Amino acid sequence: MTSRNQQLFDLSQKLIPGGVNSPVRAFRSVGGTPIFFKKGLGSRLWDADGKEYIDYINSWGPMILGHAHPEVVAAVQQAAANSLSFGAPTGLELEMAELINQLVPSMEQVRLVSSGTEATMSAIRVARGYTKRNKIIKFEGCYHGHADALLVKAGSGLLTFGEPSSAGVPAEVAAHTLTLDYNNVQMLQDTFSSIGDEIACVILEPVVGNMNLIVPQQEFLQTLRSLCTQHGTVLIFDEVMTGFRVALGGAQALYGITPDMTTLGKVIGGGLPVGAFGGRKDIMSVLAPLGAVYQAGTLSGNPVAVSAGLTTLKLVQAPGFYEKLTAQTSKLMDGLKAAAQNSGIAFNAQSVGGMFGLYFSHNIPASYAEMLQTDKTAFNSFFHSMLDSGIYLGPSAFEAGFVSAAHTDADIAATVAAAEKAFAALQ
Ligand code: PLP
Repeated sequence: MTSRNQQLFDLSQKLIPGGVNSPVRAFRSVGGTPIFFKKGLGSRLWDADGKEYIDYINSWGPMILGHAHPEVVAAVQQAAANSLSFGAPTGLELEMAELINQLVPSMEQVRLVSSGTEATMSAIRVARGYTKRNKIIKFEGCYHGHADALLVKAGSGLLTFGEPSSAGVPAEVAAHTLTLDYNNVQMLQDTFSSIGDEIACVILEPVVGNMNLIVPQQEFLQTLRSLCTQHGTVLIFDEVMTGFRVALGGAQALYGITPDMTTLGKVIGGGLPVGAFGGRKDIMSVLAPLGAVYQAGTLSGNPVAVSAGLTTLKLVQAPGFYEKLTAQTSKLMDGLKAAAQNSGIAFNAQSVGGMFGLYFSHNIPASYAEMLQTDKTAFNSFFHSMLDSGIYLGPSAFEAGFVSAAHTDADIAATVAAAEKAFAALQ
């Protein structure tokens, strides 16, 4: 008999392109049928057929407390009873701005939006308006949402401006985006020495979660910071994924580098749509209604979404929260590495806070080019074996994984036991 899951996917494909509302959900790189879920609680999910999973996607990062946390659900219910949306200022937005400013002090001023894409798109517009320059720099393998200027892949060499990596993005737009190699200090220096004074901003994921997990080298971040200062270029940390995920103050606190602007999303909405961008007051003051850079949103600062985020941010401030999350994620990595070693599989794993990367290779990659060298076939087979055992990992070797505060020692042990079976099947 066809499973309910398969029926839902068959029907979805008739009405929704590819059957999904965001491409990675379609399991295109690992093959097979995406899972349709109907319930989540803590570290667990249940699919349309009632099968239970331990969740390491956590909605791609936001569910840092696990699913349906009672305090977050209660806050949402209370806010919803007061109104689903005002489209006008509220005290809740102010509370959120104050909290963000307190926890991420480089965000002297902040504006709320409804997604990470809106946050990065708006931050770039602000940086261009502030510097009165057009060119921007990003890094290969970093994802910053799907705004046109950021859907750009590397040109054929240094100082070759980009070409669109999606149909529908005008070449003229992509032509302003230069893509460099992550962790490549020399390339950065060469670029700035020739066109530094023309660059409006550099945007990067300060720990990359969109080409598996790539950790920044301290020298790379420091060089970036000083070159941007030297050339009047706005340094934007895209902390949509790393914000309140790798540490309470984000990657900028962890590595001790202060960006000029920061983008947030995911955890700050606690599972509802909230994004934010902010930074130095002199930069943010170019925004309308005070300045000439336009940006707006009907549902920006939505009270229900902001209530979910505020409650989440209140709970992650509990003493020892990040120490515990970091230790639990490390414990999972140690268990997986030991299981792979017993099977003699070329495998590595590392984590930063509650984010982790699994690599089917002897080395841990430091760039997109190195990530391409890992064994994707081995990952795909590992993924399906884990899924069969009820372990839900990101359906692509290029996605980071996420642990929540709800993941118990028993969850970790069950995951490692499933991995032992999966590694054995790969031998
Ligand atoms: N920036 C980063 C680092 C992300 O990981 C993502 C999404 O995964 C985005 C921006 C875009 O956020 P959203 O999907 O909320 O538009």
